[in-house]
Amino acid sequence: MRPQILFPLFASVRTLDGVGPRVAALLQKLGCERLVDLIWHLPSSVIDRRFSPKVAEAPEHAVVTLEVDVLEHRKPRASRQPYRVCTADETGALDLVFFRHHGDYLAKTLPVGQRRLVSGRVEHYGDRIQMVHPDFIARPEERAEIAAIEPVYGLTAGLSPKSLGKAVAGALARLPDLPEWQDPAWLNKNGWSDWRSCVLALHRPDGPEAVAADQPARQRLAYDELLANQLTLALLRRQLRVRKGRSVRGDGSLRQRLTSALPFELTGAQRRAIAEISDDMAAPERMVRLLQGDVGSGKTVVALFAMLAAAEAGLQSALMAPTEILAQQHFKTIEPLAEAVGVRAALLTGRVQGKARETLMGALAAGEIKLLIGTHALVQQGVEFADLGLAVIDEQHRFGVHQRLTLGAKGRAADMLVMTATPIPRTLTMTAYGDMDVSRLDEKPAGRKPIETRVIPLSRLGEVVDALRRAVDSGAQGYWICPLVEESEVVDAAAAEDRFAALKMVFGDRVSLVHGRMTGEQKDQAMQAFAAGDTRVLVATTVIEVGVDVPNATIMVIEHAERFGLAQLHQLRGRVGRGGKDSSCLLLYSADAGETARRRLRVLRTTDDGFEIAEEDLRLRGGGELLGTRQSGLPSFRLADLGVHGDLLAVARDDARLILAKDPELDSARGQALRTLLYLFERDAAIGLLRSG
Ligand code: ADP
Ligand code: MG
Repeated sequence: MRPQILFPLFASVRTLDGVGPRVAALLQKLGCERLVDLIWHLPSSVIDRRFSPKVAEAPEHAVVTLEVDVLEHRKPRASRQPYRVCTADETGALDLVFFRHHGDYLAKTLPVGQRRLVSGRVEHYGDRIQMVHPDFIARPEERAEIAAIEPVYGLTAGLSPKSLGKAVAGALARLPDLPEWQDPAWLNKNGWSDWRSCVLALHRPDGPEAVAADQPARQRLAYDELLANQLTLALLRRQLRVRKGRSVRGDGSLRQRLTSALPFELTGAQRRAIAEISDDMAAPERMVRLLQGDVGSGKTVVALFAMLAAAEAGLQSALMAPTEILAQQHFKTIEPLAEAVGVRAALLTGRVQGKARETLMGALAAGEIKLLIGTHALVQQGVEFADLGLAVIDEQHRFGVHQRLTLGAKGRAADMLVMTATPIPRTLTMTAYGDMDVSRLDEKPAGRKPIETRVIPLSRLGEVVDALRRAVDSGAQGYWICPLVEESEVVDAAAAEDRFAALKMVFGDRVSLVHGRMTGEQKDQAMQAFAAGDTRVLVATTVIEVGVDVPNATIMVIEHAERFGLAQLHQLRGRVGRGGKDSSCLLLYSADAGETARRRLRVLRTTDDGFEIAEEDLRLRGGGELLGTRQSGLPSFRLADLGVHGDLLAVARDDARLILAKDPELDSARGQALRTLLYLFERDAAIGLLRSG
């Protein structure tokens, strides 16, 4: 249960003065539903209104506070014209320009003959100096009421800085004093103050530098967040390890048969990973290992070797994939090989029901099925293994910690192998997986052809469609990936449907569509039609994504590529170039994309190394944005920016380990405070891992 001291922070924003349904809806768009969300919604910069030059000296575009005499009101003659209030000081004239004006508001606030302070941005318009819609208008004696240093917050359309500022102020007014969870010596060493002071320092900046990510207050909050993250992972890891594992040691017979059944030679990296995994399995502790490998590096085969090692010892294995399509595909790869070595495999998804499901459950409980492949249906109640020895979780960043634990719990002491295709930089690996052991497949199977990558403005979309049509006419297949418009599947689906409709005009029924809002059956139909070659172009959102394997597909078009993370683009690109033919990847970017965005895209032209790309992306964009959080499922930090605070991560990891070594159940006074920290960052699941949680 969340401690009482945090209750005020988790109250709805609706409990704040001035926040009604309308403002609450806007705040929600910013991700601010509770006071704590407002607290974490830190200013991105500040406006310094202390600069108070004479009119003639005010630099164009600068924010200034000017003291002027009001000379004349010029009402608009036509409705489209602005309302002008002419003012001046002894150095020059300043026009205040208003496009919206109500009643006699302006006459009242800017009476002719009076002196006023106006604060805002100065523009030159022909030979006049003007200020459009001043942010503040006040009497000279009210100078103190114009915030000298004003925090600037990220906004959303319809939400004014004033209402947001008011809501934040309301939240700050209810800020509790929290018990200190950090080590005092560590705080001292960094010159960090207590949590509350840091929050206040960021929301009430005392200078233009105060909100920067490298400032002490921000560092402290970032460290709090990283520590909560690392403590959670450390607890999780401990949980996975407390239950004794068992030594799983097969005789190698099935693996030998597999080696000869494979139509290719394993890469060196695959052999290394297979050896690391079988050593882990043979050890008496439980395995918790991450298998990290670029798209197409051949993780599935590695997993299969591990599963067969379990089978040799008479144990069952489960492989859980994040989507139906991926589960099916794994099954398609694994089943014939399993058959070739004489082991029974089965597929379980939510769509296996009724009699078929019963039969399958029977065979599973009897231990006849050795390899069970499926979606999260695997962790549902009623799925009983005879003896689960190994749980393989593919691209587990889509699964919650909870599901990971549940699948593991189905075995007495099941070893766990987590596969990810995301080439996560080392720093980020730590945030997602803590200090799991890692096997990396850093070598591509031989014979892969490089993919020609081109960066093309969206304005040349017509040419791209023509080129795709010519390619399709001569037998090729291609993907067309639609952009992530918002963090919303509905909107993404709509964009994909529009593109689908447009391409249908060109390709007729040779094009199919897959997006996240379709039913499993619809998706399968579209996928299968494409895989069978019945349709030649597959329009898709990335929600469906990326594990699909159609060797004949040689063209990858990605619309609004600038909206994707590089690592994600790289993954998508990896969907082509799988057969023996030349492949190409066309990255279409919008005219709005800045130079940085284009530079980022060009990185993809120069390298095909997923890890290098991921590091570069991290450097160019910072960790928060890497990959697009929704896709990656990586923890998205609200305060920590790994581009800036990356160094703190390793400290937090060591700190977390030390804390748990000294106070395993977080019982001490500091331990109690750390529990509050975990609740503050909504790591309630982590608390559940404590004995008295
Ligand atoms: P990943 O899951 O890592 O993206 P897969 O396991 O799906 O990669 O493998 C991609 C393709 O490469 C599959 O068709 C697989 O059969 C093939 N493959 C795997 N290992 C090798 C290898 N050593 N040599 C040639 N092809 C391989
Ligand atoms: Mg795969």
